[in-house]
Amino acid sequence: MTVNLLDFDLDNLAVFCEQLGEKRFRAVQLFRWIHQRGCANFDAMTDLAKSLRDKLSTVAQVSAQNVVSQHISGDGTIKWLFDVGSGNAIETVFIPEEDRGTLCISSQAGCAMSCRFCSTGHQGFSRNLTTGEMVGQLWHAEHFLRHHLQRQERVITNVVMMGMGEPLQNYSALIPALRTMLDDHGYGLSRRRVTVSTSGVVPKIHQLAQDCPVALAVSLHASNDPLRDKLVPLNTKHSLDELLGACTSYLAHAPRDFITFEYCMLEGVNDSVEQAHELVRLMKSRAVSGLRGKFNLIPFNPFPGSGLKRSQAQQIQRFAQVLLDAGMVTTVRKTRGDDIDAACGQLAGDVVDRTRVAIRIARQRDVDLKAAAATTSPGTVCVH
Ligand code: SAH
Ligand code: SF4
Repeated sequence: MTVNLLDFDLDNLAVFCEQLGEKRFRAVQLFRWIHQRGCANFDAMTDLAKSLRDKLSTVAQVSAQNVVSQHISGDGTIKWLFDVGSGNAIETVFIPEEDRGTLCISSQAGCAMSCRFCSTGHQGFSRNLTTGEMVGQLWHAEHFLRHHLQRQERVITNVVMMGMGEPLQNYSALIPALRTMLDDHGYGLSRRRVTVSTSGVVPKIHQLAQDCPVALAVSLHASNDPLRDKLVPLNTKHSLDELLGACTSYLAHAPRDFITFEYCMLEGVNDSVEQAHELVRLMKSRAVSGLRGKFNLIPFNPFPGSGLKRSQAQQIQRFAQVLLDAGMVTTVRKTRGDDIDAACGQLAGDVVDRTRVAIRIARQRDVDLKAAAATTSPGTVCVH
């Protein structure tokens, strides 16, 4: 069995190199070849001794998961579906903007948190991704994009852990992945530009503050416990009080001085003006202890069988205005691609089901999935 070097942050790679009788600076060279130059071929790493290259070829590999499909939209957004084995697929989305390039990364195949409005949640949990599978999404995307856009310098400037899965439920694999993203010898991303989004795994929020503080987004969705219990079942374990307490203490370590609160707008469920006022009261009651938040309202993206509806645009504006009038920074997230079932929270389940079938058929026919991935089709877009 060979070791996948994408599984290692720099410290772990140094330990691995030590076991091969090599000094730490060799690990640094190797790490730079892999992450900065996107090199997977040890033979091409010409400043490493031939003996080390030969050794590495027998015990290690640099291996990202196979691309099942790649969709490039007119506005430059790209979505990849990766095969992670056993019929599971995960999605990764690149969203270009004028001043930044954001990659949305998945942390699990499926999700066990069962949020009422989320297609990934409805799909159920398959498994945690490895560190290499999380880093592999960035490795593949960054080096594909540099090639595709003919750029020498970095294309991806921001990472959001907002794809499929609950990142804080995959904590031990997440931390080395985050460290690789932040490492100056790796992707060199700023802590302020790497965001972990969570449905509220309170003990891990505390731990993250100690181990690897990055920007934090919390999926709130409700202004009181009874409603949040229904929408985000994890709330029955960690109440709003506990969650907002964790957010407040996180700020003492965070690279930003606010938490982003995501709020999925569901017609007739959590979108009334009264609920907006309740949310303001909730936040104000916490402001005295130092909690600062920005709100990101996400229009619900429907998926088959959800039984829920997206709030009307006017209602979202009314809701946002209450927050704004109370002095809270509030934005409404743009959704893209929902006309083709490709937006936030709806795409995963649907496409994955189709992908499962596609992977099965491809395997039956013994088709090389890598070759299949080379075909791009227009359309598509978005993630959470
Ligand atoms: N598990 C993490 C991160 C992945 S979900 C979390 O819950 O935060 C990323 C974001 O997409 C969350 O804010 C989630 O609430 C939102 N989301 C999920 N399903 C959605 C849907 N159908 N429409 C709009 N937003 C959705
Ligand atoms: Fe999981 Fe996040 Fe979806 Fe909830 S919203 S089911 S935590 S991916």
